Amino acid sequence: MVVANHPSVQQCHTLAVDIGGSGVKVMVLDLEGNPLSDRDREPTPTPATPDAILAAIDRLAADKSFERISAGFPGVVREGVIETAANLDSSWIGFDLATALAEHLGKPVRVANDADIQGLGSIAGKGVELVITLGTGFGSALFMNGRLVPNLEMGHHPFRKGQTYEEQLGRPALDSVGKKRWNRRLERAVETLGHLFNYDCLYIGGGNAKKIDVDLPANTKIIPNVTGLLGGIALWKEWE
Ligand code: BGC
Repeated sequence: MVVANHPSVQQCHTLAVDIGGSGVKVMVLDLEGNPLSDRDREPTPTPATPDAILAAIDRLAADKSFERISAGFPGVVREGVIETAANLDSSWIGFDLATALAEHLGKPVRVANDADIQGLGSIAGKGVELVITLGTGFGSALFMNGRLVPNLEMGHHPFRKGQTYEEQLGRPALDSVGKKRWNRRLERAVETLGHLFNYDCLYIGGGNAKKIDVDLPANTKIIPNVTGLLGGIALWKEWE
């Protein structure tokens, strides 16, 4: 996460932005992180270049009032700069998203990985908590007593049959093998991740979490996709 500059206003409404492989979503949050607006969405432009996505965010933000911005990005983010962008245009690599968004919208910005933000909006803050997100890509986030280990990238690591978690469980895989096989793969992934992380709780989010129709262990929770926006408030908590 990164600080582009400091808010100097009393009233702090946050524009939460979630940049995804299939949609760009925004919502305004109050100081506690409660929604103050609808969740607005535009399909992710093709090609999904920085300019095209910033233009979509400009349009979505145009009728909204806010004093600061949180943004989730589907890749590794360090100091507001994008290091990987597996499901977006490769011109994102090396792009300073925090600075560009601050310049576009004229407000201070903090940026983090999308799964990290989804986790921040969902976890209990006790013990080892793992978050996975099932959308266009496969996101992951790890927390210990509420402290984030940023940019955990399970999605691009080997899972089975010479394929990564993302290749087996991302949206193209769901589209090609269908819900039944995808659910069997998910059951196996949950078992493997349980042995690997020995977490206290696993949270499963992302747009395809609603496609889950297998029974999962008792320490597994399905979380709503809107937490990918709501969690953005946590990026600002340390200043309040
Ligand atoms: C990216 C992750 C991201 C996930 C979900 C993966 O392809 O590498 O950083 O969290 O997709 O968007």
